[in-house]
Amino acid sequence: MTKDRFKVFHNIDTVAGMCESCNEETILVAIVTEYYRCTNCGADTRQHVNGSIRYLRLNESDKEWIKNNTKNG
Ligand SMILES: [Zn+2]
Repeated sequence: MTKDRFKVFHNIDTVAGMCESCNEETILVAIVTEYYRCTNCGADTRQHVNGSIRYLRLNESDKEWIKNNTKNG
């Protein structure tokens, strides 16, 4: 297995990471700063950097913040 398939995502702001919502190694697409959407399960996650990078499930205030900072809210 290689990660070559990830190259198709280079034009948009994406990262490869572990989604804590579906527990899969996946591609996450930036929606706003620090917030990423999992392309596997569709969940929105918050990037958390603390030595390693994690993608956490959102709490209610996170969801509210995204709603107020994106056009589709
Ligand atoms: Zn996921």
